[in-house]
Amino acid sequence: MRTPLVVGNWKMHGGLAEARALAQSVRDGLKRPRGVEVVVCPPFTALAAVAEVLGGSAVGLGAQNCHWEPHGAFTGEISPTMLAELGCRLVLVGHSERRHIFRETDDEINKKVAAVLRHGLQPLLCVGETAEERRQGLTFTVVEGQLRAGWAGLSLEDMGRCLLAYEPVWAIGTGVNATPAQAAEVHGYLRGLASELGSKDLAQTVRILYGGSVKADNAAEVTQEPDVDGVLVGGASLQAQSFIAIAKKSAAKGGAPKE
Ligand code: PEP
Repeated sequence: MRTPLVVGNWKMHGGLAEARALAQSVRDGLKRPRGVEVVVCPPFTALAAVAEVLGGSAVGLGAQNCHWEPHGAFTGEISPTMLAELGCRLVLVGHSERRHIFRETDDEINKKVAAVLRHGLQPLLCVGETAEERRQGLTFTVVEGQLRAGWAGLSLEDMGRCLLAYEPVWAIGTGVNATPAQAAEVHGYLRGLASELGSKDLAQTVRILYGGSVKADNAAEVTQEPDVDGVLVGGASLQAQSFIAIAKKSAAKGGAPKE
């Protein structure tokens, strides 16, 4: 049984006071979440403060990006070792905003995935097609290319430590979420690919999150899909009450009791 995972991506929002307050509200609203794991990814500048607030709580800490080297002359970059030291347990890798705004390549994303694993953290590798690619019938081709490249050179064991997120670019921050059927189709495809690249067992155990305009009122229907193992939430993770509601609705999957 794959425990649903709900991850909040705070993106480049909030100063220290806001980050602390948001983390406190999420922590207090999810004291004993059952049947769901919850992680928040604040901006780098708020990681230490949020780590302090979340210390000993049920809510984990993640980062939104990292460099692939452990240290060196890389002005402006943050390494996986620095993130591990702060208590992060996962790192978003290949988010569509990194791929499309900052032109991150599949090769760089692959180096980041490997580096995150090397330092004992879990990469949450994001894949997804643009609206134009979907229109052209290229959805499976695009996500397949991104997963193959992202996992290139990984051992089966390391693939097993990865998390995946299907995030159609056209659904991120647009208010237009994929239908449960659209998400299920791509999640099923990725699971089949995990079987081919790794093993049948990997396909059964790898957690694949959906991301793209998830809100409190649409989280339940997408997370009920058998191949959807939780959600990656952007905008709605900035309001504690909506994020808490999303986590509770995701926890309801499989009949697990809500908090
Ligand atoms: C995201 O940033 O990964 C995301 C899914 O954003 P939103 O929920 O705002 O669409």
